[in-house]
Amino acid sequence: MPADSTPCPECGAAISGGREGCQAQMDALNARARSDVRYASTARLAFDTYCMQHPATYCVSAKSYAAHLMGLCCGVDFAGNPVIYTALQRWLNGSKALTKPPVPPERGSMTVRDVAAATTPQTYAQAVQHWAATVWADYQSQHALAHDWIAAALAADR
Ligand SMILES: [Zn+2]
Repeated sequence: MPADSTPCPECGAAISGGREGCQAQMDALNARARSDVRYASTARLAFDTYCMQHPATYCVSAKSYAAHLMGLCCGVDFAGNPVIYTALQRWLNGSKALTKPPVPPERGSMTVRDVAAATTPQTYAQAVQHWAATVWADYQSQHALAHDWIAAALAADR
């Protein structure tokens, strides 16, 4: 760990600049996905993963929490099925009485730092998949809830 590294308070990554430095790495990954199509296929999964690892920033409301939890679930358990992404977006646009579950204290053993270290589109995609899986595993207590919400979104879409 470099001497000037302060761990990000949300994901624990040792990154210069702490929470802000961590955000800068995610912003850089998003920018690369927008400018280089070879990195775009896992952009949605990477962002939902980052959001569920940083819920104090991205999951303040129950609706945003549900959006990223369902997004991560779709990315990991449903191979990023675009039909589900579309259905959940539409479902969340309506008025919903959702209750935000408690955030688990551990949220993945990998961080944006591990993913940013990948230097090719292939290794990057693999790293994102692995990163998403470790975060999703720590949300195990909410897997059933996420699947229920996705089922409701798909039912409403019919
Ligand atoms: Zn972080």
